[in-house]
Amino acid sequence: TANILDGKALSDRLRGEIGKEAAELTQKHGRAPGLAVIIVGNDPASHVYVKNKKLGCEKAGIHSFSHELPADTSQQHLLGLISELNQNPKVDGILVQLPAPKHIDPETIIEAIDPGKDVDGFHPYNVGRLAARQPSLRSCTPYGCMKLLAETGLDLHGMECVIVGASNIVGRPMALELLLAGATVTICHRFTENLQSHIERAEIVIAAAGKRGLIKGEWIKQGAIVIDVGIHRLEDGSLTGDVEFDEASKKAGWITPVPGGVGPMTITMLLANTVQAFKIHVGDE
Ligand code: NAD
Repeated sequence: TANILDGKALSDRLRGEIGKEAAELTQKHGRAPGLAVIIVGNDPASHVYVKNKKLGCEKAGIHSFSHELPADTSQQHLLGLISELNQNPKVDGILVQLPAPKHIDPETIIEAIDPGKDVDGFHPYNVGRLAARQPSLRSCTPYGCMKLLAETGLDLHGMECVIVGASNIVGRPMALELLLAGATVTICHRFTENLQSHIERAEIVIAAAGKRGLIKGEWIKQGAIVIDVGIHRLEDGSLTGDVEFDEASKKAGWITPVPGGVGPMTITMLLANTVQAFKIHVGDE
């Protein structure tokens, strides 16, 4: 059976290192790294994410500035706040929790953030940097997946990777990360025909379709690495992913559990990005 890629344990270890670095930097520069977190409206899941991000900051010695705005906040008002935060020298990172209410255009919001403070790594400038093989601030979830892959100790050059999902926040930047690492990359999405045939030849599967149990365990190639980004809450409150975990574990060489795989890594990389942005802002690289 497969080795477990334990995102919780890796996350704890990395957050320890990030906290240590944040403390040293605070000592040296007389201020802590700062992350501004903006949430518009009262989507319960988004509030849970924001709470966990703020808690993660606190534990790592990163100062968080919280902006909780009502659901009817205008786009213009939100853009005004982002512009202030772009100017604020105590703010190293700016995060707008998405999805925002419908009257707010996410692309406009993302592009308004100073790319040097875009700790989610969603700004076209930062995605472009990654595409041009000069990564700067990297998208948190794919960056976290790369850290998990590094735990296997395997060389990714020439490996057959299949990514399921082509969103701006997971699938696409994931493809750019793997390409940068020298892998051979296939991206599958909702128009892909015969998903099974792609999965069957994959040495690395990244499942990020947001479809519970889409990837059948029997499709997994013997010894493959399986990274499950999907998160689905079941009626009993438990979480599961896009991959049939039990069946896939019988064939995979390595697999991430849900929960405890990719999930904790995403916030960890947000904290890492905030410290990185701080270092750039104070000229300590
Ligand atoms: P999305 O809905 O924006 O994108 C889904 C992608 O999957 C699309 O490109 C779509 O074409 C593709 N897809 C849908 N059905 C498919 C099918 N049957 N076959 C092949 N491809 C298919 O979703 P997203 O924001 O990228 O998130 C994907 C999943 O990852 C969700 O479950 C989400 O909750 C989870 N997620 C987890 C984390 C984390 O930190 N672990 C972070 C972000 C998203």
